Amino acid sequence: MKTKFPINAFRDISTPFFYYDLDLLNTILSEVQQQARQLGYQLHYALKANINDPVLISIRKKGFGADCVSGNEILKAVETGFDPKSIVFAGVGKSDDEIRIGLQHHIHSFNCESLQELEVINHLAGGMNTQAAVSLRLNPNIDAHTHRYITTGIEENKFGINLWELNQVLEKINSFNNLTLIGLHFHIGSQILDQSVFKGLCLRINEIQQWFEERKIRINHINVGGGLGVNYSDPDGNLPDFNTYFNIFKQFLELRPGQQLHFEPGRALVAQSGSLISRVLYIKEGIKTRFAILDAGMTELIRPALYQAVHKIQNLTSSGLPLTYDVVGPICESSDCFGKAVILPQTQRGDLIAIRSTGAYGEVMSSSYNLRTKAKAYYSKDLLNHE
Ligand SMILES: *Cc1c(COP(=O)(O)O)cnc(C)c1O
Repeated sequence: MKTKFPINAFRDISTPFFYYDLDLLNTILSEVQQQARQLGYQLHYALKANINDPVLISIRKKGFGADCVSGNEILKAVETGFDPKSIVFAGVGKSDDEIRIGLQHHIHSFNCESLQELEVINHLAGGMNTQAAVSLRLNPNIDAHTHRYITTGIEENKFGINLWELNQVLEKINSFNNLTLIGLHFHIGSQILDQSVFKGLCLRINEIQQWFEERKIRINHINVGGGLGVNYSDPDGNLPDFNTYFNIFKQFLELRPGQQLHFEPGRALVAQSGSLISRVLYIKEGIKTRFAILDAGMTELIRPALYQAVHKIQNLTSSGLPLTYDVVGPICESSDCFGKAVILPQTQRGDLIAIRSTGAYGEVMSSSYNLRTKAKAYYSKDLLNHE
């Protein structure tokens, strides 16, 4: 499914702004949810990828739960109608206030990342006269083969409880009166395209399950996190391959009777439905390089600067002959560059540029550096009927 840009409507909007194709989003959501239902899998959308209300509401309406990594995300999920019983809460540094928010809403699970966190949750739950449902976020020591900034499942990462700590953790949990251990949680990284990594995760979980079984500890929920990647170079091509993804878990993960399998996709659901729309401010000829200077920068989309991410760049309004450009933003940092040696139809001041696949980790990571104005968001349902 190809995103159709309402270019006439764009001409009247001040740039830069984010554009969301909600039809594409809904198509992806329906497809993924249908496949998950057939297999009996529970999906929790990772809010941190995109927290715009129309996006969240579309996702909630399709029956997704929520995966939150802050107290404010829990509040946001509740506000936009997600069932608190469908909320899972991860994060290595949950503050006391954030834990209390989770306790007040009786969320499905605190995905705990350290021994000390378990202690604190038990203590706070006791103070509120309630029980906390917890899962252990285990560090499976699996390399996700992705960018080192977004790999999270190897032992020297800050995330998760290491397997060699498990004995001690279980001893502690047994002494806590306000915790119920309901599950095991894993999340090994993001933008994973080599799906064999997920097979490795399944096999590791099977070993870990054995360990719990030998100790007669019943685990009702297995949560395998998110991480499925998207094709940034071809945003109009195939949708993220959830079919292969789910089938790997169906084939290789040995669930025990009555165990529920949970997933926390973020990027794969929302990335392709968003684009950052910008105008060309200036064309500047260097000695060897021709620069297209945009009015959008790393303040709107930091992924290229932060993770060397590559996003497809399109000129929406020119049909000139192809030329090569370094496409850069206006921010006073050399890393404020969206792409080097990008081939675009001959580009001039005023042209509209789409930077594609910005629906995940785009707008949410924007900043006011250089005292920039926050870019607005527009939605297909509001613009397409003006075409
Ligand atoms: C970020 C995150 C996700 C979502 O990751 P994606 O790569 O966007 O699918 C899921 N679970 C946890 C715990 C996360 O931190």
